[in-house]
Amino acid sequence: MHLGHLEGVLQSYVAMQDKYRVYYMIADWHALTTDYEKPGQIAENTAEMIKDWLSVGIDPAKAALFVQSSVKEHAELALLLGFITPVPWLERNPTYKEQRQELTTRDLSTYGFLGYPVLMAADILLYKSDVVPIGEDQRPHLELAREIARRFNNLYGEILFPEPKEILTRYPKLPGIDGRKMSKSYDNAIFLTDDEKTVGQKIQRMFTDPKKIRKNDPGNPDNCVVCAFHQVYNTAECDTVISECRSGTRGCVDCKKALAVRLNARLAPIREKRATIDKDPSIVADIIRDGTKRARQAAGDTMSSVRRLMKLG
Ligand code: SF4
Repeated sequence: MHLGHLEGVLQSYVAMQDKYRVYYMIADWHALTTDYEKPGQIAENTAEMIKDWLSVGIDPAKAALFVQSSVKEHAELALLLGFITPVPWLERNPTYKEQRQELTTRDLSTYGFLGYPVLMAADILLYKSDVVPIGEDQRPHLELAREIARRFNNLYGEILFPEPKEILTRYPKLPGIDGRKMSKSYDNAIFLTDDEKTVGQKIQRMFTDPKKIRKNDPGNPDNCVVCAFHQVYNTAECDTVISECRSGTRGCVDCKKALAVRLNARLAPIREKRATIDKDPSIVADIIRDGTKRARQAAGDTMSSVRRLMKLG
């Protein structure tokens, strides 16, 4: 995971674990909706993602961490919810339309791709979730989960599923080092696992105001990726950075060096925690085993009620 994830979703995860009983899931089945032709990376990515979660402060004593495919009730509930979900609800999903147009290199005319919001609804409702941390783009999915919950409760005459509310994750103000959205596929991301030297090198490559050529030229910090990072990782000195840049008393080389110090200080405890986890691979296995047990317990309880209400014995 990269800094965009850290400042967006991961911060929300850490904050929520102190307030709620939380279940955090690696959605390996969902990864297949678009990557079904090349599933090779999914298992490796699963372990890496759990390590990232732990290194940023997600506490397995508070949060149940598990892998979706290890809790088969997700599949059972998705199947059953599929029977009550009208197809037009899925076809009007904006992500469905957008991704089919954008991801032209993959064949997404599959049943799994159309139906993945039903699986997502199952992921949420299985734990009778009151709140779900989501990004802005996932709002239609959560609304669909609410509609499915409502339909289920009406059809079977019992309020089994609460209608889950959203907790919008903080929108990360961090661009990638080239100014576009930070993304692994754009090769512009700074990763949680990058060492000090790599972080320094990436900061050297960051786009700055193209009109500021010499040290003493006045610059426009609004046009500068380095400044966007100072605003997140160097809040105490950010006003000084901006005014010195505008007045031409600050050079880009020094400005980048100062940022590297701040960012590496932010990443140091994350790297330290990660190194401890890497020394003992059994830590991750034990945490997943424990999280899976807790998730199965909750999921099993819900499915007993679902089967009873749907007269499945
Ligand atoms: Fe960006 Fe700093 Fe250079 Fe100004 S001085 S353009 S804020 S790197």
